[in-house]
Amino acid sequence: MKYAIQSRNDKVSNQLMDEAIDYLKGFDFTYDNEEPDIVLSIGGDGTLLHAFHKYSHRLKETAFVGIHTGHLGFYADWQPAEIEKLVISLARKEYDVIEYPLLDVTINYREEKESTRYLALNESSVKSPEVTLVMDVELNGKHFERFRGDGLCMSTPSGSTAYNKALGGAIVHPSLLTMQLTEMASINNRVFRTVGSPLILPAHHICVLKPVRGPDFMVTVDHLQLLHKDVKSIEYQVSKQKVRFARFRPFPFWRRVKDSFIENGG
Ligand code: NAP
Repeated sequence: MKYAIQSRNDKVSNQLMDEAIDYLKGFDFTYDNEEPDIVLSIGGDGTLLHAFHKYSHRLKETAFVGIHTGHLGFYADWQPAEIEKLVISLARKEYDVIEYPLLDVTINYREEKESTRYLALNESSVKSPEVTLVMDVELNGKHFERFRGDGLCMSTPSGSTAYNKALGGAIVHPSLLTMQLTEMASINNRVFRTVGSPLILPAHHICVLKPVRGPDFMVTVDHLQLLHKDVKSIEYQVSKQKVRFARFRPFPFWRRVKDSFIENGG
């Protein structure tokens, strides 16, 4: 089996990476940074986001495993002390593969420039670089609302515990093929009106954001942030692709939510 390791690059994560490489030498594993079957991400959820984007061109062939060297994560849910157990399970192929939904992001431009496409594991957000964001929100080709405020965020179910949660979005179980639109500080008064609640959209729906003011936008895709100029529209849809995680033991999603946000009661 071919594997690669993505480390957060701090001392503890790099030490654990060396340990994992040592353990794996004892089994039939080859280090392959280009075409790994398994990617061990050592660090936090942020590290797994980096690993995901590095291998997002081969999601069908690659499964991810996250080991946390800080606090418990949603993607990084293995403890460093479990590394030996994890390597043995990998070698014996004693694991299941679970899949989580992803978000397709397409940015279309006014001029004859080719559209840019991204795949998000957590979310994509849109802000205006200088002024209040003003965009029309279209759902399935029909005008829904004119948004005025700081920005909009479309998250995946597994990203619902990240930025989405801080914006007041709902936590969504990653078995649900959905995407969720949340507002950032919308202006709501007698003149301007938005729905004011997060929207959870099913897989066959498409959400398009169209600029009303300013053609330039700051668009994030997970940890990536880029200024896109001359934007005509930004399209969001639940992707047909999925991310695959190797699961060696049950660790229910709601247990992870409880341990992360309420109490780590064991
Ligand atoms: P960062 O600022 O270093 O990390 C932001 C925090 O989000 C970290 O604590 C990270 O956990 C956590 N996180 C990432 N994915 C998560 C998930 N699916 N569920 C729960 N927590 C999660 O930035 P980064 O490492 O480049 O990560 C980018 C992500 O930061 C974005 O995708 C966005 O979701 C998140 N973010 C959150 C806020 C907010 O909550 N107000 C604002 C901006 C961005 P680890 O410590 O385990 O890495």
